[in-house]
Amino acid sequence: MDRLSSHRATKEVVQKHGFKFSKSLGQNFLIDDNVIDRILEGARLSEGDHIIEVGPGIGTLTREMGKVADKVVAIEIDKTLIPILKETLSDLENVEVVNQDILKVDVQELIKEKLNHGPVKLVANLPYYITTPIVMKFLEEDIPVTDIVVMVQKEVADRMNAGPGTKDYGALSVAVQYYCDTEIVAKAPRHMFVPQPNVDSTVIGLHVREEIKYPVDNEEIFFKTVKASFGQRRKTLLNALSGLGFLTKDEIREVLQEANIDEKRRGETLSIEEFATLSNKVNAKVP
Ligand code: SAM
Repeated sequence: MDRLSSHRATKEVVQKHGFKFSKSLGQNFLIDDNVIDRILEGARLSEGDHIIEVGPGIGTLTREMGKVADKVVAIEIDKTLIPILKETLSDLENVEVVNQDILKVDVQELIKEKLNHGPVKLVANLPYYITTPIVMKFLEEDIPVTDIVVMVQKEVADRMNAGPGTKDYGALSVAVQYYCDTEIVAKAPRHMFVPQPNVDSTVIGLHVREEIKYPVDNEEIFFKTVKASFGQRRKTLLNALSGLGFLTKDEIREVLQEANIDEKRRGETLSIEEFATLSNKVNAKVP
């Protein structure tokens, strides 16, 4: 079977099965060959790979990954797509479709059972209404994932990829870059999908580092410090950190001094290394 990524091939499959697109499940199918190739390149897909895909749709990206990788497990919530996938993926024995909601899947268990204990790569054109929960699930739940190469809304990719002092830099940039090196893999304007969404997209690569670059004493306090610092963007750190709720103004002044950070700076100017130092000083003062 040829690629499914032309508009005509997608239309044929959809019509043949009388498939109805669901807007609430974020069903916009990719119809651009070139972007598919860029995704495979961005994921450095090779024959030994174990892949998890979230939301295979009619199997457009799934097929191309199945042709190269050792094994692909594709998790699709929409049961009306399951018979379609059965047909479009019928010639690929190394592809398995699981009819579940990714947010309810025990991914560690799935990797043990179906993907030889990992490591895995997450490669997907994600449903946009749950992009951040999916990405953070893979980063925070101690899942053996080496690379996350995903299509997301352009603005979300910009935030994940942003550096300190830029308008897109925020808690999501720090959360992702705490674990990963980021890379913009490809741009995918809205006309590359059916039905056409009202946003543009970007494929971002998140390459998980083997070691945390700036280890922190307490990750919970680190993420709380980050959240408080960005909580009120117009405020100086001296004021914003009162959002932590457990430090007096004098203590905030002290931790900032100890971390060598000017109290008049704003959260959006701090590098991840500075957030790590600051959160370690905050942690030392936790009651
Ligand atoms: N991979 C296909 C492509 O590139 O053309 C489809 C991508 S489409 C943007 C997102 C897919 O995610 C849809 O197939 C949708 O049904 C599925 N989906 C939505 N919510 C999901 C969830 N919670 N768990 C698993 N799949 C989900």
